[in-house]
Amino acid sequence: MSELMVYLNGRLVPDSQATISVHDSGFTLGDCIYEATRTFNGAAFKLDQHLNRLQRSLVYARIELGMSGEALRQATLETMQANRPLLPDDYWIYWYVSRGIYTYRHYQKLSVSERPPTVVIFCKPLEYAFFARGYMHGVPAAIPPTRRIPHQCLDPKIKSTSRMNLVLAEMEAKLVDPEAWSILLDIDGNIAENKSSNVFLVKDGALYTPLTDSVLAGITRETVFELAGKLGIPAHAADLQPYHALTADEAFFTASSYCIMPIRSVNGVTLGDGKPGPITRRLLAAWGEMVGVDLLEQARKYL
Ligand code: PLP
Repeated sequence: MSELMVYLNGRLVPDSQATISVHDSGFTLGDCIYEATRTFNGAAFKLDQHLNRLQRSLVYARIELGMSGEALRQATLETMQANRPLLPDDYWIYWYVSRGIYTYRHYQKLSVSERPPTVVIFCKPLEYAFFARGYMHGVPAAIPPTRRIPHQCLDPKIKSTSRMNLVLAEMEAKLVDPEAWSILLDIDGNIAENKSSNVFLVKDGALYTPLTDSVLAGITRETVFELAGKLGIPAHAADLQPYHALTADEAFFTASSYCIMPIRSVNGVTLGDGKPGPITRRLLAAWGEMVGVDLLEQARKYL
């Protein structure tokens, strides 16, 4: 086998043959739910939590999966096994479920046999070199003018591929600084999230992160709360404004791939001494101990 294998609607096919219709509503309408996690020592991290969030997103989006949760879990394990020989020690796992082929009856409640969803699972390498530079030096952040879509319009608690809002905000951040990661505000001016990460601030030894009204309830975010509890670091979910980010002692992004990414500046204002701060580093180390992988060492090998 020389090619990664993709699970596509019940079959494992080589990546180059994993094609879907141009009429798929995931493509034409961004009408698609997705999910992603990574492995540590080859095991999928919090697999059940990710599959449960996928199910909740599908319920909200009224997309029927057309297979049981257990069958999806089995398909995931088979996809991982098929790809194991071609991937490095650890890797990404992605799931996509679109409403399927768009028809004139698209908005009616149709049975799964009348309109089968498109179900895709694939694995791909992590961007270790990029992570390593971030772990060592932190990344700059910028607050773009585009706001996160309010939950009254499309709830950010679901993980959907309707992401133009996030893509445009990220591009705006990069107009200010090509290296910057976006921190979107919500419609009321509170800090929301990055295009694919949650945000934490550190002030006077405590962690602060936005409430989940206008953000994805990240599984990494939840894990940081668990680790903070074990380390005795107070952690709060609260409304936060740009002021809190600019005056933070430390800050970091969280997402399933890199776990914790230090932020070195916000809108050009350096946080602390501009290096990843002590609490951020403690959390990164605790994460490594929890999963049995030194994240920095693993990533640094790919520099
Ligand atoms: N926020 C958004 C918009 C995301 O897309 C993601 C992940 O892709 C996250 C936050 C972080 O979520 P998790 O920690 O579950 O990966």
